[in-house]
Amino acid sequence: MVLRPFLDALLSEARQARAAPPALDYRFDEPMAAHTTFRVGGPADLWLRPGGDLLPRFAGLLFRRAREAGVPVFILGGGANLVVSDRGIRGVVLDTGAWAGIRREGEDLYVRSGTPVDEAAEYCARQGRAGLEFLAGMPGTLGGAVWMNARCYERSLSDILAEAEILDPDGADAGPIRVPRSPGDFGYKRSPFQGRGALILGALLRSSGGDPEEIRRKMAEHRGDRERKGHYRYPSAGSVFKNNRDFGASAGRIIDELGLRGLRLGGACVAPWHGNIIINTGGASAADIRSLSELVAARVKAERGLELEPEILFAGEWGDSQH
Ligand SMILES: Cc1cc2nc3c(=O)[nH]c(=O)nc-3n(C[C@H](O)[C@H](O)[C@H](O)COP(=O)(O)OP(=O)(O)OC[C@H]3O[C@@H](n4cnc5c(N)ncnc54)[C@H](O)[C@@H]3O)c2cc1C
Repeated sequence: MVLRPFLDALLSEARQARAAPPALDYRFDEPMAAHTTFRVGGPADLWLRPGGDLLPRFAGLLFRRAREAGVPVFILGGGANLVVSDRGIRGVVLDTGAWAGIRREGEDLYVRSGTPVDEAAEYCARQGRAGLEFLAGMPGTLGGAVWMNARCYERSLSDILAEAEILDPDGADAGPIRVPRSPGDFGYKRSPFQGRGALILGALLRSSGGDPEEIRRKMAEHRGDRERKGHYRYPSAGSVFKNNRDFGASAGRIIDELGLRGLRLGGACVAPWHGNIIINTGGASAADIRSLSELVAARVKAERGLELEPEILFAGEWGDSQH
């Protein structure tokens, strides 16, 4: 998709509306491997990373123009849960990475969506606030964690979410809206934003006063645990499959029991130390990772009769479809 005329028209309208970001990083045919923790993924037709404070207004214009022109928009956080196809992503990738920042709102914290969750946890610790320790060491941004309802150490992002601020592509002209958390909307790795296309601009997170030493101790424990579990040893996207209580064991345990650790396909490999992590040993393609995950799921289905559900997201153009 040739998007130079689209971008020119968008920027011209944004300048007239005083909604042009003061710093706008953009590239055509940008390899997504540079923006995902798996280090795989072909080119995005147009990758945009707006800096400054104008993202809400700029994104509103982008959504409207994209809808009129039939250009898909994919929202990118830290790329920590993504397998982007080798063919890449058609249309625009809106990278939220420069939309970062944290401020106190009374007892709560307002965190912009592009802020790494580890930084949000650090900020909290510096302020002597408790509640975000479980996020220490987890890759990705706050926006991605809200969208995924990220979960670790027995806590989900929704446990600390008071409200999310979003921009709905269909109501983008009306501007950002704040959506209070409604308990039924969130579940295990499920949020009301999945499948909706809304841009999460930020979130109000609950925190409480805490003992700074205890906060630091918990954060160090979580980071250390991830180190020991080999989370950062090779490029990956963390857990490949969701856990399912009905299976009686974690996805990792089931895969281990079938002896699938170390199973290889091209440059992709089931981590020799953890059944539910696939790693890029160097030179893996997105297709290698996808095929290996399908192979593992097929073996679990054949030998245990259980249907593993992927937690990692397959994004971009796969075969005939774009996710
Ligand atoms: C080593 C490692 C360990 C991990 N451990 C865990 C873990 O313990 N628990 C866990 O839950 N996950 C874990 N993950 C996965 C990942 O860290 C989380 O899923 C994280 O929340 C993804 O955030 P992200 O910003 O990278 O999102 P991305 O991967 O960029 O995107 C994920 C989805 O969110 C959407 N999205 C992102 N930002 C926005 C936004 N601002 N507005 C709207 N939509 C948005 C994207 O379109 C996409 O659909 C791990 C990953 C790695 C690499």
